[in-house]
This record gives sequence, structure tokens and C-alpha cells, in this order.
Amino acid sequence: MGPCRWTWSVSSRCVLRSLLARLQTAGALGLRKRLSTAPSSPLVCIVGSGPAGFYTAQHLLKHHKQVQVDIYEKLPVPFGLVRFGVAPDHPEVKNVINSFTQTASSNRCAFYGNITVGKDISVEELQQAYHAVVLSYGAEDNRQLGIPGENLPGVYSARAFVGWYNGLPENQNLEPDLSSETAVILGQGNVALDVARILLAPLDLLRKTDITASSLKAIAHSKVKQVWLIGRRGPLQVAFTIKELREMISLPGTKPLLHPSDFEGLGDVIKDLPRPRKRLTELMVKSALEKPSEKDSARWASATREWGLKFLSSPTEVLPCADGTRVAGIRLAINRLEGSGESAVAVPTGRFENLECGLILSSIGYKSLPIATSVPFDAKQGIIPNTMGRVHNVPGLYCSGWVKRGPTGVIITTMNDSFDTAQSVLDDLCSGRMDPSVPKLGFQSLRNTLQLRGVHPVSFSDWEKINASETAKGKEVGKPREKILDLEMMLRIQLKPARGVT
Ligand code: FAD
Repeated sequence: MGPCRWTWSVSSRCVLRSLLARLQTAGALGLRKRLSTAPSSPLVCIVGSGPAGFYTAQHLLKHHKQVQVDIYEKLPVPFGLVRFGVAPDHPEVKNVINSFTQTASSNRCAFYGNITVGKDISVEELQQAYHAVVLSYGAEDNRQLGIPGENLPGVYSARAFVGWYNGLPENQNLEPDLSSETAVILGQGNVALDVARILLAPLDLLRKTDITASSLKAIAHSKVKQVWLIGRRGPLQVAFTIKELREMISLPGTKPLLHPSDFEGLGDVIKDLPRPRKRLTELMVKSALEKPSEKDSARWASATREWGLKFLSSPTEVLPCADGTRVAGIRLAINRLEGSGESAVAVPTGRFENLECGLILSSIGYKSLPIATSVPFDAKQGIIPNTMGRVHNVPGLYCSGWVKRGPTGVIITTMNDSFDTAQSVLDDLCSGRMDPSVPKLGFQSLRNTLQLRGVHPVSFSDWEKINASETAKGKEVGKPREKILDLEMMLRIQLKPARGVT
């Protein structure tokens, strides 16, 4: 199922069919009257301006020529995790922003930033104002470790750490303690590798990225030299992908620590693995068991920092230092695997290991939160229960992205599921399940309410002023942008005339 499966001709036929259906019931007199007015434009509201929000909007606008889309975003700046999640040294991933900007520039699309749905305006109010509401608000919380000591100073969620170096305003006071030599990352996914890379990357590499100046300064003083990525299962179950692993293995100034014993015997299994897993495992096996090339030997001999993968280990307790004021290590239960492949289960052996470290970053997953009591929420799975993006038992309410399917998958995965959701909206319009002739006023009907509540929406052209200011500041120091870290400051810039922005 792709973006093009709904063509203009299908859309036109659909509009025509629904128009005819309404004309038939209206009778001959009404017929002439209705023919003189176009059918009402369906008004769709999208909550969240990350990839899910923008891809949903893109599909709707492309495949329905009357639909009007309003995107509500809680921050004054758009793009969700593309801005605040994707690693600063992966600028190519952020190119999707160009197509999102194109979507936002449509005269049938409006962006309303600085509005938190569920606080500034309720989902019910949006439902009254729009024919359809699509919830695409992502997964902004993180899963807890649920072990003693997890709140000790020195333990952070990877979510907060990523937000800190990527300029997310709410994480700017994190002040992660980077004063110890060993860091432990709990988790073996791509976010864990991103975090390890940022901790260990040469400063010259980071300096050219859009990492924030304040985090770059802190990282410049970091004492972290060794990073362990801990997984509760084995090498065949790691969640990171080959590109990220390759990048880590060739990270200048660092050496991988892969214990040969973890990989011996995998040769027999590899040949039957699905291709991506096979290539990934081959790379790990090669790096762990084969003699390195001369170039790699030389590079690793001069490396000042190192990172390693530790398998079959589940954290059971964060160990405090002698006076109990901060983290000094982590206690790990040693597991064995029952079963094989993706479904293998980690079973404790009853043995334990203590690993000394002064920094722990928990990268065990993001989590969506409920937005309103009126919106069904599956707390166990952390998603809004839905079928093809249609929220169960709430007509006119849809969801897309991480809040629809859970916090896994890359931007392309999010794109596909958002197109599916948008298609469900279009199908419902076509089938008459949603009636765009019911009068709705969209943002117009909420403007006063928001004003009375002291909420000042930020438009897309306001964001462009913020963008211009950030890129101008970045240019001065050879970076793509210098992010503004403070909400108040963002709002102040947005109020200045565009030409005055520096
Ligand atoms: P989000 O991107 O989180 O967007 C949700 C938006 O909703 C946010 O802008 C948020 O501010 C807004 N919002 C939240 N609550 C409200 C509310 N109440 N009212 C209004 N607005 C609200 N994928 C890749 O392909 N390549 C990568 O390199 C990559 N790196 C990643 C790095 C990290 C650290 C993470 C966590 C993910 C990464 N991903 C990457 C995955 C990718 O970011 C996700 O697939 C994608 O962002 C999910 O999109 P989303 O729109 O569902 O959520």
C-alpha cells in the first residue's frame, strides 16, 4: 500500500458519488440550489507535527482536493523527533523536513504550534470543530526500569539525554554527570547506539552538527572513556541495525570490545537467518572473531575510548556509592536463553555480576500516554486501540504514528502507517461514514477560546522566523543551526518581524 493508491480520479469520483447521493435525497428543488455550491470542504485536525502528523497531512492533501488540514503542535517548533530525537550527526535523516515544509506551505494546510491538546484545548473541543481528528502525538514518556536505585543521581533515561543534546526545552536542566570513566547504557537498539556514539564521538565531528552548544561544552569536559551496552538476550536478538553498528565500529578514536565467546558457534545459525539479521550478525561475528585489518589494528591500538556489547544480562539494582548519594555501579542478573530467534526468552540463571560505572542511561523504550479520558487507551501496549487508524468506538477519531502502533520503527515505518490512517479518513469520506456537509468551523471556532485561555498559537511562518534565527546563529560557528533552547525565547523571536531576525 503506497502513497499513490488513491488517485485524483478516484477522489473526484468519490466526491461526485457523495454529492449525487446527497442530491438524490434532496429532491429536484434542492438540486439546483446545491449544484450552485461546492460540497463543504472536509476539515481535518491533526494533533502532533512529527513524521506521523506530517505524513498523514501529506496523504490527505495529495489525494483529496478539497480537504483542509490543521496541524496542532504543543511546541512552538514542528517536526517532533526529527528535530528532537534523530542524532545530530545524522543530518541526512532530517532531510524529510523539506517535504514536511512543502506540505505545510499548501494553502490547505495550517500549523498551530504552542498549543497542547488535552491542556489548552480538549480533544472533545477539536471533535466539535472538525469533521475528523487524527491523534499523532507520539510517545513522549519512557519505560521505567522498575529496579531499586533507578532514581539515584547519575541515572538518566536515554529519552531525556537525547532531548538534552538535541535541544528539547524540557530537558535543558538535565546536567548529566559525565565525570566518571565508565557509562552503562541499558538497551541494545538504535537509540542506545546513538547515545553511545554521541558520548564517544570526536568533538571535531560533533562540532559540525546541530548538537546544542551547551551539551557540546559538557561533552568536551566528559571523562567517559568506556561505554557498555547491555542486553538481556543474545547477539541474535539485538535491536539495532547494521548501518548504526557499522558506524559505531568505525567511529574514530574508539575500539569495539566484543567478546569472542559471545559469538562462537553462531556460524551455523547465521546461514538460515533472514537477510538483514544475517548481515548484522555477520558483521558482529567478523568484528569479534576475525583478525582485524592492519588499518583497524592500528586504529584500535591508538584508540583512547572503547565501547562494548554485553549480552544475557538484566539489570536488577542500581548500586549506590558508599555515602548513597549517587550511582556507583549496576547489578546484573546473568541470563540464559530459552528458545531461539526473535522469540527467544531470557531466563535468569541465579548468577549475578556487578559492573562499576558512574553513569547509567536507560534505553529500554519510549511510551505513549493517554491524552484524554474520552479517548480509549490500551495502557499495557501504550497505544490507542485502533483498526487501520480508526480509533475503536469513536467515529471521526483516528490515530497515526507511534501512538497508533507503539514506539518502534523508523520514519519510513511511520510514513506507511500514517498513509494508511489518512486513507481510512478518505475512505470514510467516500463511503459517507463521515459527512463533510455538517457545518464545522475548524480553528475559527476555537480562536477566541484559546485567546481567553491565554494561548498564543505559533504559525508556520512564525516557525520560519525561528528557523531563520537558528540557521543564522549556526552559520556563525559552522553548524547547520544553533537551536534555541528556551520556549520563551522561541516565542519572542516569533513575534519579531522576519527581517529583524538575526
Ligand atoms: P513524534 O516524532 O514524537 O511526534 C509527535 C509530536 O506530537 C511531537 O512534535 C510532540 O511535541 C507532539 N505532541 C505531543 N503531545 C502533544 C499534545 N498533547 N498536543 C499537541 N502536540 C503534541 N527514525 C529514522 O528513520 N532514523 C533515525 O535516525 C531515527 N532516530 C531516532 C532517534 C531517537 C532518539 C528516537 C526516539 C527515534 C528515532 N527514529 C528514527 C524514529 C522516528 O523518530 C519515529 O519513527 C517518528 O518520529 C515517530 O513519529 P511520530 O510522529 O509518531 O512521533
